[in-house]
Amino acid sequence: MNEDQLTEMIIKCPACSVEGKAKSIMKELEIPHFGKVLETTIQCPSCGFKHSDIIALEQNDPAKYVLEINKNTLTVRVVRSQSATVSIPEIGIKVEPGPKSEGYVTNVEGILNRFEDAVKKALKLFEDDESQKNAKNTLNQIQELKKGNGTATLIIQDPFGQSNIVSDSVKILEIPEEELRELKTGFSHIEDG
Ligand SMILES: [Zn+2]
Repeated sequence: MNEDQLTEMIIKCPACSVEGKAKSIMKELEIPHFGKVLETTIQCPSCGFKHSDIIALEQNDPAKYVLEINKNTLTVRVVRSQSATVSIPEIGIKVEPGPKSEGYVTNVEGILNRFEDAVKKALKLFEDDESQKNAKNTLNQIQELKKGNGTATLIIQDPFGQSNIVSDSVKILEIPEEELRELKTGFSHIEDG
């Protein structure tokens, strides 16, 4: 059963409120060993608003997924819900969920690509020597991992258990109560270093 269900709807744009132009596309995907997820994308041709999210159709407990990133795990499927915190501690990079954060289905390499883009943006934003040095160092570490050189740890923490790393080598841990309380579920910021 890999038949993807696609539903399209015209909705009122949540950003500019234009009627009859914004499109909502809902796609049901079957992720092996995880279950069904609903991928929704809203696009508005009038103001350019675009937002994607994924919703796991099966309810799960809060969970922390830990995977070693190495040359053999770059293609491992990753489901990141809007409420998940994604981090690679060795590189000092962490993306916490925010109002604009998106849910997506990708693989480990795709996560690295997203981090690479975020660091490239930081390189343009922060021009002082220290930030430049740190960002270039981080960028270099991400690029080496993408080439399959070295290892690091990918951690996904999801207070709603809607995320997953689909691999036999993934460790799935409970999130301790005090850690759960500190997990962000709404406000956005990207930490670098
Ligand atoms: Zn709009």
